[in-house]
Amino acid sequence: MKSVDAHLADILATVRPLAPLELELEQALGATLAEEITSPVPLPPFDNSAMDGYAVRAIDIADVPVTLPVIDDVAAGADGLRAVGPGHAVRIMTGGPLPAGADTVVPVEWTDGGTVSVRIDRTAAEGNAIRLAGEDVRAGAVVLKPGTVIGPAQLGIIAGVGRRRVLARPRPRVAVLATGAELVEPGQPLGHGQIWDSNSFTLTAAARSAGADGFRAPTVGDDPAVFLERLDAQLLRADVVVTSGGVSMGAYEPVKEALSPLGTVRFEKVAMQPGMPQGFGTVGDDQVPIFALPGNPVSSFVSFTLFVRPALDQMRGLTAGPPATVTARTTAPLRSPAGKRSYLRGMLGSDGSVAPVHGQGSHQLAALAAANALIIVPEDVTEVPTGEQVEVIRL
Ligand code: AMP
Ligand code: MG
Repeated sequence: MKSVDAHLADILATVRPLAPLELELEQALGATLAEEITSPVPLPPFDNSAMDGYAVRAIDIADVPVTLPVIDDVAAGADGLRAVGPGHAVRIMTGGPLPAGADTVVPVEWTDGGTVSVRIDRTAAEGNAIRLAGEDVRAGAVVLKPGTVIGPAQLGIIAGVGRRRVLARPRPRVAVLATGAELVEPGQPLGHGQIWDSNSFTLTAAARSAGADGFRAPTVGDDPAVFLERLDAQLLRADVVVTSGGVSMGAYEPVKEALSPLGTVRFEKVAMQPGMPQGFGTVGDDQVPIFALPGNPVSSFVSFTLFVRPALDQMRGLTAGPPATVTARTTAPLRSPAGKRSYLRGMLGSDGSVAPVHGQGSHQLAALAAANALIIVPEDVTEVPTGEQVEVIRL
């Protein structure tokens, strides 16, 4: 049997980072920046008020209380301002450009709020409540580096420096295709021998959680020819395909039957539990990576976590490797088959303990949904006593 590490290494040796594209801001969330972002102007571009109040000369409010005539009203976005001369005040709003002559802003709370004249009760030092041009970003300064994942705040600064598009590696498009003649769409009635399809929802959501765009295709039965047709349709829009089911040793294994003859997808036994049967390779003219994951719900989810997620990281141009682990103390004895690495579902506590959940079968989806961690038991370990330290993947 192939080791988990060797399987992941093969995958990461095959999968390439996606080519950068010019993305509109609206499409850039979750993409990975492939250029340096600089600001063409200082930010803020001009000196402006940090508060609603009055722009004055500090010298004129050295002694308070003092009443000054209000000679102008400056809202944010205002233009054609009058200068503040000796003894003048200008009413100003947050973000309003500071009029020439003024060197301080008195917050409205320190005044009577007048619009014709204003009584100022508290003095303010020069520069009070003024945001200076270039205080956030100097003109020409780098605000984001290549390799940065664009989150909401990063998107904000890209827009904030006036950019409409950015060169970035897009979120990978993941087509999810579940197979199985027994599958019924949730919401539809269940006949005898049927189950509701859950894997395609889990895997699509897992792809989205991993920073990709997941698309769920309608489920396919167990006919290899139909599977190939559906796969072909998905290849038009996918950077990577994830299938579930149809890869085991039984009959009616459409994914294995359809892809084996192509010679570009290998079906192997990986020394892990759950998730032993794994298919991986490339398909189509564009050599789109395909993950043929086992059908058992826990198996397909664990396989996604161990193999698909790192591959998506690599496609995004990020550092890719096995999932990060933390050390925890098991609250119950653990068992694992010899020669296989187990990923047991567990509940990681805030006290550094981890409790295996009840129901460790690879079909026991409710137990997976109740877990927040995968407990790793290495290949050469068959029993772990209570209280022992174990490595754990947070979910
Ligand atoms: P297979 O890998 O196709 O042999 O399926 C293994 C087990 O997983 C069977 O019990 C299937 O009914 C179940 N299974 C396969 N696909 C799905 C799915 N999309 N949702 C839920 N269970 C599934
Ligand atoms: Mg099946």
